[in-house]
Amino acid sequence: MEIKDELTEWFAKNHRELPFRKNKDPYSIWVSEIMAQQTRIETMIPYYERWMENYPSIEALANASIESVLKSWEGLGYYTRARKLHEGAKQVMNEYGGVLPSDASTLEKIAGIGPYTAGAIASIAYGQEAPAVDGNVLRVVSRLLMMEEDIMKQATHKKVKAIVREWMKGSRTSDFTEGLMELGALICTPTVILCDQCPLQKKCLAYQHQRQKDFPIKTKAKKPIEIQYQTLLIRKDNQIVISSDDSDGLMKGLWRLPQKKEFDTQNYTYLGKSKHVFSHRVWLMDIYEGTEYVLQEHEKWIAVDQLNDISLVGAHRKILEKYL
Ligand code: SF4
Repeated sequence: MEIKDELTEWFAKNHRELPFRKNKDPYSIWVSEIMAQQTRIETMIPYYERWMENYPSIEALANASIESVLKSWEGLGYYTRARKLHEGAKQVMNEYGGVLPSDASTLEKIAGIGPYTAGAIASIAYGQEAPAVDGNVLRVVSRLLMMEEDIMKQATHKKVKAIVREWMKGSRTSDFTEGLMELGALICTPTVILCDQCPLQKKCLAYQHQRQKDFPIKTKAKKPIEIQYQTLLIRKDNQIVISSDDSDGLMKGLWRLPQKKEFDTQNYTYLGKSKHVFSHRVWLMDIYEGTEYVLQEHEKWIAVDQLNDISLVGAHRKILEKYL
């Protein structure tokens, strides 16, 4: 049997029942793929269900305010994803009559849709022979073929894409793409490698040579930069100070507590430390509480009972939950 047949048969029998697999609606696939990019499936499911209730169609999403979109995303992190989904929905309404295009290269012209998501939508929703290559797929293919190339390199990515395109020819593309993703998520994972349950075991070079753990070849990611902040909890008359200064490029459009690098904390009380890890940066926060403060640019007072109505960065929401 060919890889495509083994994979699609295995997927048909073994896949998980997930809410976005109930139909092949392109919008559902789009939302679920964007949400799953930096979030575990189990974590994202309640967010996905709430999202589809709030914005059941591309039109509903395009008509929503960015504030409500960011609010719905709160807790998932990496807010650029929500912002781009919103922007993309508007673009689909304006340029494509409210319908997601079916071919991968046109899909890639839409805000927030990269080659992977374009491939996923085109193959899962529209039955196109369009590969969707992400980290899971790179790992599985790299083990199957014992690829010596570094999967962090663009050239390797391109090569894997061409291989997957060849494999999926004449397949039920939807089950093929989802099957490869599912295999990477459940059977051929970075740490747990369940070759005895793998439908591709007989074709796998890494298994034949018992070198599964040697693949994929991957250069180490750079260590995130640590930034030390004084994070201020300034409280007076049941109000606190918040800031919209997102000039560091992180979580644009979200409110946060004022953060300083050299602030005179003489009249403030030290509350403790907190740490938040982003993909390339780490915030090391010393938290101070005080009352006397002169508002700076981007800052304002807000009533404590209004904090639930605004979108706040997760790291600071946790601080407020702990100390307010
Ligand atoms: S046989 Fe093992 S290493 Fe090879 S693809 Fe399957 S799970 Fe991965």
